[in-house]
Amino acid sequence: MIAEEIINEIRSRADIVAVIGQHVQLRKAGRNWKGLCPFHGEKTPSFNVTPDKGRYICFGCNKKGDVFDFVMELEGKSFVEAAEQLGARFGVAVPKVEESPELRRARGERVAMLDINKHATAFFREVLADPARGEPGRAYLAKRGVGAEITDKFQLGYAPPDWHALADYLKAKQCDMELATKLGLVARQPRAGGYYDRYRDRLVCPVVVPGGEVVAFSARVIGKPPAAPDGSEPPKYINSPESTVYKKSRTLFGLAQAREGMQKNGRAVLVEGNFDVISLHQAGFADVVAPLGTALTLEQVVTLKRLTERIVLLYDGDKAGYKATMHALQMCVEADVEVLVASRPGAGNSGGAGVLAGGVDPDSLVASGGAAQLKEAIDRALGGIEYFCFEVWGKARANADARTRALEDAARLAAKIENRTKRDLVIDTFAKALEISPALVAAAVARAAGHPNGGGGGQHGGDRGGDRGGDYRGGDRGDYRGGDRGGDYRGGGGDYRGGDRGGDYRGGDRGDYRGGDRGGSRAVGHPNAPDRPHGESSTEREKSPGKPPDAEIEVVSLLADHPSLLATAVADKVSSLLTDERLRAMYSAARAGQSFLELAPMLLPSATARLVLSGKYADAKDPSVKLGEMVKLLEERKVMLAQRGLEKSLVGAKRGGVDPELVRLQAQLAVAQRKGDQELVEQLLVQISKRKQAE
Ligand code: ZN
Repeated sequence: MIAEEIINEIRSRADIVAVIGQHVQLRKAGRNWKGLCPFHGEKTPSFNVTPDKGRYICFGCNKKGDVFDFVMELEGKSFVEAAEQLGARFGVAVPKVEESPELRRARGERVAMLDINKHATAFFREVLADPARGEPGRAYLAKRGVGAEITDKFQLGYAPPDWHALADYLKAKQCDMELATKLGLVARQPRAGGYYDRYRDRLVCPVVVPGGEVVAFSARVIGKPPAAPDGSEPPKYINSPESTVYKKSRTLFGLAQAREGMQKNGRAVLVEGNFDVISLHQAGFADVVAPLGTALTLEQVVTLKRLTERIVLLYDGDKAGYKATMHALQMCVEADVEVLVASRPGAGNSGGAGVLAGGVDPDSLVASGGAAQLKEAIDRALGGIEYFCFEVWGKARANADARTRALEDAARLAAKIENRTKRDLVIDTFAKALEISPALVAAAVARAAGHPNGGGGGQHGGDRGGDRGGDYRGGDRGDYRGGDRGGDYRGGGGDYRGGDRGGDYRGGDRGDYRGGDRGGSRAVGHPNAPDRPHGESSTEREKSPGKPPDAEIEVVSLLADHPSLLATAVADKVSSLLTDERLRAMYSAARAGQSFLELAPMLLPSATARLVLSGKYADAKDPSVKLGEMVKLLEERKVMLAQRGLEKSLVGAKRGGVDPELVRLQAQLAVAQRKGDQELVEQLLVQISKRKQAE
C-alpha cells in the first residue's frame, strides 16, 4: 500500500483544476470553478470545483470527491494507478507497489489492455526511429510533410513488414496475447498455432485519450502491399476493434493533442479523416479532431462541448461530405452547442459547394499550400443555420426534389432545437430563406420531431435509434439514412452512412482475417469488390454497389455463428424481413440444412461473404436476445420504408401538402397581392391553377 503521507503530499500538490480541466472546460466563478459535469449529461453547468479544498461536487448528480476520486471515476483507474499517475505528474515519487498475480488480475482486463497498447506504441515508435527498419515509415511521413514535432505529438509509429515482430515483442514483455488479440494487434495462427501481427508495413497512429492512454490504433497502408490470394487489395486502414478500453462512438481522434488548442481558440475544428487531423496540426491548426471513422455521435459532441464553446465543421467537399455535414449539424444542434460550417475557401457565397470545393479534402488542400485559405475558411465559417439557408437552399433552388429534401433537412435540424423560442426563430429564418410560409416549415418540423401533424411522422423514431444505437445499429445506419432521405434505402443518401466508416473498420478488420483463418478454404473472385477511389478521405468511405443492406448482413452473420438459432420461432420471421435476394436464398438453404460456410462464398459477393463468416458474433453473450433485437430493428425498418413509400406517394398526390413549387407560387402570390401588382397576381394565378391541374 502507499503510505498515507505520500497520498497527502500528492493531494496537496496536485492541481485539481488542471486535472479536471483535461476533461471539462472550467470557468472561474468566484473562488470556485464551474463546468459541465462529465459524469452526467447536462446543458447548463452544475459541476463545481473548489481548489482551496481540493474537491469537486456536482449538484446535478451528486458526484463528489477529491482529485483521486476524479481520476479513478472518470479514467476508470484503481487507487494505486491514480496515485502513480498524479504522483508522476506533480512530482511526488510513489514507490512501486509490489504486485501479486492476483492483484494484477484484480486490476482487470482494462489495465492490462492499456498496458499492451502502451508497449505496442513504444514498439512502433522504436521501429520508426530505427535507421534501417523505420525508413519506409519516415519516407512516408516526409512525403506527407509531417515533421518530427507532430510525429512525437501524435506518437506516430511504423509497423514493419514482418509477420511476428510485434507478437515477439509483446511476448517478451509478457503480455497476455489473448488480450492483444482482442485489441486487434495480433491474430491467432489457425494451423501453426501462435500469433501473427495484424499491422504490417503500415504507419500506425495511436488513438490517445485526454488521460494520456492509448486506447486504439489506426494503421494506414503505406507501400504497395502484395495482393491477397484472391486478388483483392488489402484495406487502406486497419482500425482497432471496439474493446473494453475503446468505444468508437465516445472517442475522438486527436482529442488529447487538440485539447490545449481547443481551449485556447475556444473552438474545435472537426474533420473527417485521421490523417486530415495530423496534416492540419502540422499546418498549425492545433484544435482539429476527427470522429474516428464513424458518423459524428451525440456522445462525441457532448465530449467536445465540455471542452470548448463551439464546433467548426470542416468536411470534404463532395456529396458524402455534405451528408456528413448535415448529420453533424443535427448532432450539434441537439447537443445545443454552437456550430459553424466552414465554407469552401475563396468561394464566398457565390453558390459554392458549402463545404470544401468538389472533391477536395482539407488534407490535400493543406498539402497543396492552401493553409492560408483554409484558415480563412475556418475563421469565416458560417453559423449552422445560416450555412443551411445560404448554401444548401441556394443550391437547391433549381430543382423541386432538391427543395423537398432541403425542407426535410431543415426540419430535421430545427426539430433538434430544444429551446422553443430559439426553434421558432429558426423556423422563421428557414421560412424566409426557403420562401415558404412559416406554418409549412413548422409542420415539417413537427413531422420530423415525430409529432404527426397531418400525416407523415413516425419515421423519426428509427432515425434517432440509429443515431444513438450501439454496435449493431451503428453498422445499420446506412440503411436508415438512405431510407430516410431518398425513399430508396440503398441509393441517394445511403452512400454516406452506408459507407459509414464503420464499414471501413469492418472491411479492414475482416479482410485481414482471411489471410489467417479462412483464407485457404475458399478463394473467391468477387465482382463486387468495393472500389476504392483515390484520395485519403474519400477512400475511407467504402462504396460497394452490390452489397446487401448492413442490417440484413448482421442478422445473417449472427445466424451463421449460431446456426442453432435457425430452429427458433423468431428466426421464422427473418425470411420475410430480408430484402436482399441472395441473403434470402442463403437463409432458406441454411434452414434446409446446408452450411453457411459452403453457401456464403457461392451466393454472396465475397466482401459480404467475409462479413457473414467473420465470426463477429461467435462470442456474443446472448445470441437469441441479440437475434430478437435485430429482428425488431428489421421490422422497424420495414415499417419505416413502407411508411416512407406511402409518404412519398402522398406528397405526390398533394395530400401531404408539400408541393414546394406550388407553395412558392402561393407565397409569391401573397407578396404580389400585398404589393397590389395586379399583372403579376394574374400571372401567378394562372401558373397556380396549371400546377394544380397538373397534379
Ligand atoms: Zn453530474
